[in-house]
Amino acid sequence: MIEYSIGVELGANTLRAAAIDKSGTMLHKIACAARVEEGRDAVIDGIVEAITSLRGYYSTREMRGIGVASPGFIRMREGVIAGANRLPHLENIPLRDMLSDRLGAKVILENDGNAAALGERWAGAGRGTDDLVLLTIGAGIGGGIIAGGKIVRGSVGMAGEFGHISVVPNGNPCGCGNQGCLEKHASATAVGAMARMMHLGDNLTAKDIFELANQTTDPAEKARAIWRVMGEALGMALAQLVNTFNFPLYLIGGGVLPAWKYFAPHMMKVAKQRSFALRATGHETRVTQASLGDLAGLYGAAYLTWAEK
Ligand SMILES: [Zn+2]
Repeated sequence: MIEYSIGVELGANTLRAAAIDKSGTMLHKIACAARVEEGRDAVIDGIVEAITSLRGYYSTREMRGIGVASPGFIRMREGVIAGANRLPHLENIPLRDMLSDRLGAKVILENDGNAAALGERWAGAGRGTDDLVLLTIGAGIGGGIIAGGKIVRGSVGMAGEFGHISVVPNGNPCGCGNQGCLEKHASATAVGAMARMMHLGDNLTAKDIFELANQTTDPAEKARAIWRVMGEALGMALAQLVNTFNFPLYLIGGGVLPAWKYFAPHMMKVAKQRSFALRATGHETRVTQASLGDLAGLYGAAYLTWAEK
């Protein structure tokens, strides 16, 4: 009998859940509204319903456990979301144990960036590598650190907050209280803000700016300049990560990946300038694209059951 596990990813808008077997095959995936605005009970009911329906499909197989990936800082020992701007109703309640009691199964609660890093390591571009960093670049910037095959969480679950590494002294103010955070200079949101400042348009997405860069006529050059500035900011952060960890693998994921060819050369140039460790290790240090897209968190959440043994 092939055992399986259930991964859940809780977002501000969408709740997704998947049954994944131990070989890394996704058996079934469902998505529904997260119902965050309806309050705590509605969200929890939604999670329980999604998991129950998945279990219904595979009632003859052994379900090993459930991993729930959530934004925010997770206090692992207590199984509590300590801080999550986008999920205020779920903060500081014993969410892990509430779910475990209702479902009669083991539940592990994990930060979504950490889960995505674990997912890439298990079933994506990090397969076979015990030490890696994943940087996920979307509306914000998050990620996770895997060392010795295990998630590095820090003492209160705040490790891997790459979005708040300072990359520009006295740069753009950030909601975290700092200035010049990576997230303010290299996220999809930051790319859109640069386009606005350069009068390319008020509501352009990172995808729009990628498409502009692809054109052969104006304003392609301006669009490419935005990706260059974004790549340079990313390179600053990458250099610090390589200097800190000396890991063999750094994965870049998230919604900006289609523009890789426009930002990655600038990212690598700055990272090499600023990281002796990167220059010294040459091909032994790889910086490459993550491969699971927005499924990384689901894979990682499901794998928690096996990883935490
Ligand atoms: Zn910040």
